Amino acid sequence: MSDPRREIPSVDALLASPEFEPILKGFPRQFVVRVTRIVIEEIRNSLLVGDKDIDPDGLTYYARTVLIRLGKETMPSLRGVINATGVVLHTNLGRAPLAEVAADAMAAAARGYSNLEYDVELGKRGSRYDHCVKLLRELTGAEDAIVVNNNAAALVLVLNTTAKGKGVAVSRGELVEIGGGFRIPEILERAGAFLVEVGSTNRTRLSDYEDSIKKGEVAAILKVHRSNFRITGFTEDTTLASLADLANEEGIPLLHDLGSGLFITADALALPAEPLASDSLNMGADLVAVSGDKLLGGPQAGIILGNSELINSLRQNPLCRALRVDKVTLAGLEATLQLYRDPGQALESIPTLRMLGNTAESLGKRCEELDAELTGLGIGSSIVESEGRVGGGTYPGVKLPGFALALDGPHGAEALATHLRNGDPPVIARIVDKRVFIDLRTVLPGQENNLVRRVREASNEGFDS
Ligand SMILES: *Cc1c(COP(=O)(O)O)cnc(C)c1O
Repeated sequence: MSDPRREIPSVDALLASPEFEPILKGFPRQFVVRVTRIVIEEIRNSLLVGDKDIDPDGLTYYARTVLIRLGKETMPSLRGVINATGVVLHTNLGRAPLAEVAADAMAAAARGYSNLEYDVELGKRGSRYDHCVKLLRELTGAEDAIVVNNNAAALVLVLNTTAKGKGVAVSRGELVEIGGGFRIPEILERAGAFLVEVGSTNRTRLSDYEDSIKKGEVAAILKVHRSNFRITGFTEDTTLASLADLANEEGIPLLHDLGSGLFITADALALPAEPLASDSLNMGADLVAVSGDKLLGGPQAGIILGNSELINSLRQNPLCRALRVDKVTLAGLEATLQLYRDPGQALESIPTLRMLGNTAESLGKRCEELDAELTGLGIGSSIVESEGRVGGGTYPGVKLPGFALALDGPHGAEALATHLRNGDPPVIARIVDKRVFIDLRTVLPGQENNLVRRVREASNEGFDS
């Protein structure tokens, strides 16, 4: 029997064939050549191991295989997914989806030139650090503000500027890991400061801070908001106000890593109280750092608020350049902040706040609609109680009451969840008690049609295999 590999046409022959004509119209020639080579190599290898399923004769087979491969190669690495997990600030899924006006502002900034570092009135160089400052002052009462790449960068900048080569007092109960490699002790060290641990994990008193300041060369006190965990039981914490008094007496700054970045009172969202940056400043923090893409609901950014002298020294730190925010982010952040001038509008237009505010009743209604649609397609589902989460390392343990659609899938929940993920767009869902839960809290307006299509595809794919 002749070697079937000899039958494989050459790249030149394939590219000259009428079957490849439409492919060459749709993709650059060099790219098609490269992908065709890869495909041929793969076919050759499968024939070598005696794979009889493949059918290497017929040019349509090659054309089809190359086309599928071209589709895969041109698919963006970063693409949209449908978040059906009910976790609003899902860090792995990109945290906060932006308000329309913010997304528009970012697209506009991306497409054109801007006055990023240009003073239009004076016709000379301006500063990128001027943007958003007025709004931030207005919304938080801060004296001054600066925006950097993210909150981790904010912290590095703050610590490096205020305590390089010196100690920073932090309660042992606040030496937190936020996730994704962000640990307070390590950040502190990399920022060039050293850690002075204060108190114990569950109890830290003011006198503990006083003692550690007496002992070491403490240049700042850092209070870290325990965003993503809670300590309960026999606990004692030192209030920000008493720390502010101590910092004042010692003539050192009080730094507050607040993280979550809520810009609206928590009761407007029916959530437990969470300190606002303005509260922190009022209680005497000298610098407060928050994330832009957590509860604020804006783009990834780190916002530092506080004392204008200190903010000025942050601006002058050469590290600032390495941590700087880009124009697209500034445009999105400014548009998001604008919405907060009217809290009612913020609640309506900022997707994060809107999703957090979703009532169980409205989620139940959306579930009923989707359930009816799926039933019409012959897909069985049931409406179940489901708890959403705030996510993004905020509001640990807080459950957002609501409903979800539960699907069994023809071959079980794992298979269905896998099929849901592996399609376009991927649907990311949770498995609860061996069923796939579709939580509509985080499914954005306009995504329902795609969701139904994907659920149908995933359910059918299960049947075929
Ligand atoms: C989230 C968080 C950070 C990290 O913020 P990023 O914007 O993700 O860099 C730091 N500190 C606290 C307390 C946080 O909650």
